[in-house]
Amino acid sequence: MATADVDAVVVGAGPGGSIAALLLARGGARVALVDKATFARDKACGDLVGPRALALLASLGLTAPDGREVGPMVVVGPTGRHVLLPARQGLTYPGHGLAVARLRFDEWLRAAAIEAGAEPVTARVAAVHGNVVELDDGRCLTGDVVIGADGANSRVAASAGLVDPTAVLWGFAQRAYVDQRVERPIIALWDRTPRRGFPGYGWLFPGADGTANIGLGLGLRTARADARLAVAHFDEFCDHLRHVGLLTVPVDGPRLGGWLKMGMVGTVAARDRIFLVGDAAGLVNPLQGEGIAQAMISGAAAANAILNSPGSAAARYRRQLSTSFGRYARIAAPIHAAAISGSRQRVSRLTRALTSPVIGPAIAAPWAVTWNDLIDGAPPGPATTAARLAFAVGRLATARSPIRRQIDNDLADLEALR
Ligand SMILES: Cc1cc2nc3c(=O)[nH]c(=O)nc-3n(C[C@H](O)[C@H](O)[C@H](O)COP(=O)(O)OP(=O)(O)OC[C@H]3O[C@@H](n4cnc5c(N)ncnc54)[C@H](O)[C@@H]3O)c2cc1C
Repeated sequence: MATADVDAVVVGAGPGGSIAALLLARGGARVALVDKATFARDKACGDLVGPRALALLASLGLTAPDGREVGPMVVVGPTGRHVLLPARQGLTYPGHGLAVARLRFDEWLRAAAIEAGAEPVTARVAAVHGNVVELDDGRCLTGDVVIGADGANSRVAASAGLVDPTAVLWGFAQRAYVDQRVERPIIALWDRTPRRGFPGYGWLFPGADGTANIGLGLGLRTARADARLAVAHFDEFCDHLRHVGLLTVPVDGPRLGGWLKMGMVGTVAARDRIFLVGDAAGLVNPLQGEGIAQAMISGAAAANAILNSPGSAAARYRRQLSTSFGRYARIAAPIHAAAISGSRQRVSRLTRALTSPVIGPAIAAPWAVTWNDLIDGAPPGPATTAARLAFAVGRLATARSPIRRQIDNDLADLEALR
């Protein structure tokens, strides 16, 4: 078996892995960037790159590929009533996101990492033994550190014993492209049967090229077999969008599904020389499904911890996640779990109330800041104050949640301390 030695083996060249590889290579490290796919490769996604991802790219001097700037988002309730969530510029992020196909975005970011000096390797990782990464073509790569950026079903996380699949908050979503011009991103909260809320949501997002991205996703907790519901009910959801006047064209293109691993539950993000970033670390926002920004920011955080604190990088990285995404996940993950497991009637009542003409507009601004996890860096003002208040109430309401305790334990890596 041939063995190659590098400073860092990064497994997965999605947004998380490519940013980690780029920063490590810029810092002078020898990096192998391994992916099982030949790029450009597709990825099931709504194709919306959020404001914090754009801020990170700007801070690294990178200009994202051409896409369509997207600002305020429309949330449509089960009855067709809607609320406009504003997109306000923050102190640390722009007031817009970017719609760009993952096929292009991920290829561009991976090319930037390679240009910075990362060595591309096309192979599937079969297992990780300590800091030795075994590829399925028989080769092995040895790195001082290994970064698992290999997505929701991370081989690195499983192989290194860093994930407890029975504790993870799983989600699944399917998307297709349609030939319809859409002006604003639309989130559709849906009652599949009258007055029983679907345990997820659907979307119709603008694309860069006059097409739109349509999708349906749901939270599963640990019942992964129910992922089939996103596929089984997709056409019904499209009919619903037609019924409320949002979809005007047939949905006949290929459909692609993918897993979401949310809320940081059941995953230890780093131990010894192994680091997990992005979906591998379960960083998807459990309230609205965003994960590209989290993948890129965590990729940068892992790379910086490795470059700046080689002796204590794992603990430093976990601490950093704890004070950033962890603060949000401790509240959002228990709320997500309660909404998925709770009464469908209650969820329907809640979504109708949130999109009612009285309540919706009154809470739209703090709602946008809170569920997009944009409180840190939000500009001062009434919306930010209200969002902070909602966050404080959420903290109190979830104080005794076992899910929150699990996140705390994982971030402290209690297992390793025993
Ligand atoms: C349908 C859907 C819609 C979504 N919409 C949005 C959205 O609009 N905006 C948003 O911000 N987020 C969205 N998300 C979440 C987002 O797609 C992810 O959070 C994001 O892709 C995470 O990036 P990553 O780098 O961690 O992993 P990924 O992008 O999943 O990249 C992982 C890479 O690892 C490679 N890999 C996997 N296993 C191996 C292996 N064993 N060996 C070698 N390579 C391997 C894969 O080929 C892949 O290239 C959506 C998710 C789904 C499923």
